[in-house]
Amino acid sequence: MPLIQPIHLPESFMNARSQRYQLSIYRGDLEHCCAPGNKWHKLKYHLQEASRQNADYIATFGGPFSNHLHAIANVLHTSGQKLLAIVRGELFMELTPTLVDMVSWGAELWPSSRQDYRLGLDSEVVKVIHSLYDNVYWIPEGGGGVIGSMGTREWANNIARETQTFDAWAISAGTGVTASGFLAAGSTPFLHIFSALKGAKEQQREIEERALLLQQQYGDHHKSLTDRFCFYTDAHEGGYAKQSQELTQFLFEFSVANPGVILDPVYTAKSLFAISKKMMTGLWPHQKTLFIHTGGIQGWRGYPDSVNPYLPLCSRK
Ligand SMILES: *Cc1c(COP(=O)(O)O)cnc(C)c1O
Repeated sequence: MPLIQPIHLPESFMNARSQRYQLSIYRGDLEHCCAPGNKWHKLKYHLQEASRQNADYIATFGGPFSNHLHAIANVLHTSGQKLLAIVRGELFMELTPTLVDMVSWGAELWPSSRQDYRLGLDSEVVKVIHSLYDNVYWIPEGGGGVIGSMGTREWANNIARETQTFDAWAISAGTGVTASGFLAAGSTPFLHIFSALKGAKEQQREIEERALLLQQQYGDHHKSLTDRFCFYTDAHEGGYAKQSQELTQFLFEFSVANPGVILDPVYTAKSLFAISKKMMTGLWPHQKTLFIHTGGIQGWRGYPDSVNPYLPLCSRK
């Protein structure tokens, strides 16, 4: 299957204005067996660094439905390193499907109250882990930092090599690590970044600063990247992992118009909803756009069947 495919706007978004646009999708979700979408790319250099340091354990953070935790547990399953996963919120008797998979792949789960979790590397749970284990390599929440963006910068350059020219690319953001790498890559055209978080205004600056740091590291010189991207904070549909009725409606229509393309509920669905609305009103500024699918399909298991258009393919079971 080609990794670049056309996207059809759902019928209720079709009009004379939206028909002018050409929207395509890069199927990052189909790229890697165990860590689809952006996750493998964010992990790549962290895992190299962990091997270089001869780490016996890799530790990282995430929520009970985290795509990041799921991906890293799957990747480490076949390597010699053990995963210590700090899981946000208490663990309940019945684990989420994400956590069940992780346990089956040999990961060790460390529950952490939301309050302690917020402290990151300064949390109590991290101290306990350090008292029990030596040789731990830590990956920040979401596979982050500049090391994470090194991999996504490379990903962007690889995608550019495979595509004909687009006027713009569009991508979803959680921590913004993936977007930083894309922005830093010399071959990325204008970049539209859609935040999945509510109130993420300050992230715009973080993304640009991380991208500039990365460019310095690779010897590319740009004074500013401000005119190379647009950051949207109004696409969250009520907040992180929340689902508005309009979004659900959009997803059901989108799945009919694009039967081969499964979007994830937390990130890509919201970005494509926002893009579709802007195209419908004629306010989207680029004619030929490539949307980057960042994966995350397993995240559907945190949602009730009633809002899920992809049953029985992606279900809670
Ligand atoms: C993790 C994830 C993101 C967010 O990536 P960041 O680098 O944290 O911005 C975006 N889309 C999907 C599908 C994800 O799973």
